[in-house]
Amino acid sequence: MKNTKNIYLLVPLVLIIFIVSLFNINIISEQKNFTAVNTVEVEDVKLPIIMYHSVSKGRKSKYNVPPSLLESDFKYFLNLGFTPVFMHQVVDFVSFGIPLPKKPIVVTFDDAHSSVFFNAFALLKKYNIKAVINIIGKCTDGDDVSKFDAIKSHISFPQLRQMVSSGLVEVGNHSFDLHSDFGKRYGIKKLKCESEQQYKNMLKKDVDKLQQRVQDNLGIKPLVFAYPYGKYSDLAKSVLIESGLKAALLSTHQINVLNKETDLFELKRFNRPNGVSSKQFYDAIESLTNQSNSMNNVLKYRWWR
Ligand SMILES: [Zn+2]
Repeated sequence: MKNTKNIYLLVPLVLIIFIVSLFNINIISEQKNFTAVNTVEVEDVKLPIIMYHSVSKGRKSKYNVPPSLLESDFKYFLNLGFTPVFMHQVVDFVSFGIPLPKKPIVVTFDDAHSSVFFNAFALLKKYNIKAVINIIGKCTDGDDVSKFDAIKSHISFPQLRQMVSSGLVEVGNHSFDLHSDFGKRYGIKKLKCESEQQYKNMLKKDVDKLQQRVQDNLGIKPLVFAYPYGKYSDLAKSVLIESGLKAALLSTHQINVLNKETDLFELKRFNRPNGVSSKQFYDAIESLTNQSNSMNNVLKYRWWR
């Protein structure tokens, strides 16, 4: 009888000890998780950004690829395991550590030639490729939807609306009217006769004009700016930030190394020229992605000189 009494006393005691210990383990593991989240170091991510221009059969230029070559590029880099991402995902990774998929790549089309709407859009959908189209405001504003001239015409806002609503296209700002190399100014470069303030006012007015046009027509504001002709100015970054932009693209042939220190306003890109097979081009991109210094090694590929 005495033994039974002891058991009656022991059972609640053991239960209390068990519950208290569970509670403690929970607190400790929560503390551990909290520490892990706060001290975790995000690893560097290598990011190639590719720059296409027009996509048409006839034109022989290093700024045009035929649709068959574009399709072969898509198949080839998907096969290598690259995953196309938007620029806003790149910004989120650098700014907030939000993970990117394995082997990310950014596909961009500069100048928004209408050939991209007519010849590349179907391929983006067929292979589920995310792409960034950097538009020149003056051209996009002025073009007729029905006109199709791969060289002279540009994607219109109604066409862009279709592309954006597919979920596969992000729109970038390529200036409203600074895409010129034959006037006094080369791209966005500052003129010698201009004061810093005059220069900043000029750039802000131009960039804001296109930001507003895109907002009015597509209901969104671009996050990325593509420097026309890759021309960069030290004064530009603060203006772009003021206009709500989060990143900007150069035309320097180099792989980007992304971490929280990366300057998102100096991202490098590779032009994709015609006359080079998908295998040659994307094997080179993959090999440079795996090297520590892609800047020196890029020189061995003569098509990028
Ligand atoms: Zn351009």
